[in-house]
Amino acid sequence: MNNWIKTVLSLCEKHGIPYEENAPMSAHTTFKIGGPARILLLPENMEQIAVLAAEKDIPLTFIGRGSNLLVADGGINGAVVVLGSGFSAVELQGDTLICEAGASLTKVCQTALQNSLSGVEFAYGIPGTVGGAVYMNAGAYGGEVKDVILWAEYIDKNGELHRACKDELELSYRHSRFCGGDDCIVRAAFELIPGDPAEIKAKMDDLMGRRRDKQPLEYPSAGSTFKRPEGAFAAALIDQCGLKGMRVGDAMVSEKHAGFLVNVGKATCAEMDELIGKVRDIVAEKTGYHLETEVYRLGE
Ligand SMILES: Cc1cc2nc3c(=O)[nH]c(=O)nc-3n(C[C@H](O)[C@H](O)[C@H](O)COP(=O)(O)OP(=O)(O)OC[C@H]3O[C@@H](n4cnc5c(N)ncnc54)[C@H](O)[C@@H]3O)c2cc1C
Repeated sequence: MNNWIKTVLSLCEKHGIPYEENAPMSAHTTFKIGGPARILLLPENMEQIAVLAAEKDIPLTFIGRGSNLLVADGGINGAVVVLGSGFSAVELQGDTLICEAGASLTKVCQTALQNSLSGVEFAYGIPGTVGGAVYMNAGAYGGEVKDVILWAEYIDKNGELHRACKDELELSYRHSRFCGGDDCIVRAAFELIPGDPAEIKAKMDDLMGRRRDKQPLEYPSAGSTFKRPEGAFAAALIDQCGLKGMRVGDAMVSEKHAGFLVNVGKATCAEMDELIGKVRDIVAEKTGYHLETEVYRLGE
């Protein structure tokens, strides 16, 4: 057994951290694709995250709902930490919502509505957690995390808790200071403004309706597979190249929304990788635009 595995298992034993061995990542991603994580950790409090983070030899990856992840068929030879129900609290302080990283964006939006607060309506329907949304500065319909965030708290590689204010978060299009780093986001504050609950609800319903009309929500996916290239829209470029419906096995370019690559059955990661590559090559050849993936690829 690898040393890091022994270390993780003994930490789990000592600190009562729930875990699963060889846990299929297809059950933890909205794509429903991915082989096993060698160890899946389900910490229930910050102390448990801190002890894991401080152990430098453990190859850790922190995830939320897995709604922006594509995991390799061979899985992840490391420890995947899911911030789930133990981190789902959303509390009101004045007009600010203090949200734990595992809280769903749906819960954040509904709490804002219940308290007649406006600002996060844009996030209604994004099927991720607060941690994932801060990590990649999630956004939709003209709004993004950057517009409302006040600060984020994270646990670093030494197991220490820090708070970074908005200006320190380096938020830009689908990017934050956390991208590619080792920190675990544990909490974020969203500063909202008082609004009319009927108007807030109407906006949320409208955006959800637009998602249902335009997006292939009937199939597993990770949302838009590609980032918006400068000066164009990925979906429009893919559509323009006639790629809607293009398939590799059960991986398919959605017929409804060309920006979504979907799993129409039992797609493997290898099939999805191949389809991503083909779409990219054809778009580059026919339009000159180079598409970059928005979806994060984990494992080998
Ligand atoms: C149908 C559908 C529609 C979507 N629409 C949108 C949209 O409109 N706009 C948009 O921006 N996105 C959209 N997405 C993509 C996705 O929902 C968002 O990117 C979301 O913010 C990801 O959150 P998550 O909790 O699922 O993160 P995950 O997919 O679990 O993780 C994403 C990245 O964040 C990191 N991460 C997650 N949590 C933490 C943490 N606590 N600490 C440190 N790192 C962390 C992970 O390591 C990974 O690199 C959509 C996805 C789907 C399936």
